[in-house]
Amino acid sequence: MFRNAKNVGYYMIGKGSLLQLDDMLQKRRLLVKGPAIFFLDHFFQNRDLSARLPVEDSDLVLYVDTTDEPTTHGVDAITEQVKEHLHGKLPCAMLAFGGGSTMDTCKCVANLLTNPGKSEDYQGWELVKNPAPYKIAVPTLSGTGSETSRTGIVCNEAKNLKLGMNSDFTMFDQVLLDPDLTASVPRNQYFYTGIDTYMHCFESITGSYRNAVVDALSEKAIDLCKRIFLSDDMMSDDNRELMMIASFLGGMAAGFVGTVHPISAGLSMVLHMHHGLANCYALSVQEDIYPEYYRDFMTMIQRQHIDLPSGICKGLNDDELTALYEASIVHEKPLANRLGPDFKKIFTQENVIARFQKM
Ligand code: ZN
Repeated sequence: MFRNAKNVGYYMIGKGSLLQLDDMLQKRRLLVKGPAIFFLDHFFQNRDLSARLPVEDSDLVLYVDTTDEPTTHGVDAITEQVKEHLHGKLPCAMLAFGGGSTMDTCKCVANLLTNPGKSEDYQGWELVKNPAPYKIAVPTLSGTGSETSRTGIVCNEAKNLKLGMNSDFTMFDQVLLDPDLTASVPRNQYFYTGIDTYMHCFESITGSYRNAVVDALSEKAIDLCKRIFLSDDMMSDDNRELMMIASFLGGMAAGFVGTVHPISAGLSMVLHMHHGLANCYALSVQEDIYPEYYRDFMTMIQRQHIDLPSGICKGLNDDELTALYEASIVHEKPLANRLGPDFKKIFTQENVIARFQKM
């Protein structure tokens, strides 16, 4: 069976491109009568960006609390709030301003506006049946690739499962990349998030599920990440624009990760750690599995003066360590992608727990 691969509809790249958002949105308002729904990272509450957006009286502006990653419970609650505002209408557009958490929240809520049930019903592959409303992504933090990926990731606390709604309907229709928007991101956060692209792409290119287009995108994104993070200043004007492009390419290449993301998912589920930072810890104990990428990563961390304090799993009890193992080993597809079908013989419970204890 061949997969019929979809890419993001339209994209605009360039410093200052946010100014064209108003025109973009006006076109949507003429097509569909419903209000626009704006999702903003709570970081922007009472900040300059909110005042610059083309919000009309009938629109809804929601600030997404990104202290923790999106949960099924949280997404369901926001969906109810949006439905109440819409009174049965469809929105002319749903817009996300933020990083992966905000973009994924927007994607998941959009799916739930046109598909019945709760978010946990759609965690998996090809479960979303009806097209979602029109969506625009405006990343203000680059690296997760959410702007171009076909997944919206949510943590299901009851099931101890971090899994996305993987569907063509989850994808954004329009992406707007304005590097001015990432100028004020704190350095550590910029690194932890940006390096997610590098991780996705090297995991993809060293796996066994491959295709030529994904390989090409991954190679280019890895090159860009090396240029950015091995330079003197990862946050120069040029590098922030390159980072947006790397993230964009990386999102398109995403889907077939390896052993970093499962370990990272364990940390997010059990310790509520953010994805980017969790990836850094996950790679820091996988020198044996990804020697070349591990070496470059350690150089990048030093060159950019990034903090990665050790001892994060110190003091965890046996139940917590088992939960970490279970929330990781459940990701069979990516583990098999790197380690082969017998991945459980390599990633035994003992082996995986020892890695967590080394962090
Ligand atoms: Zn990732």
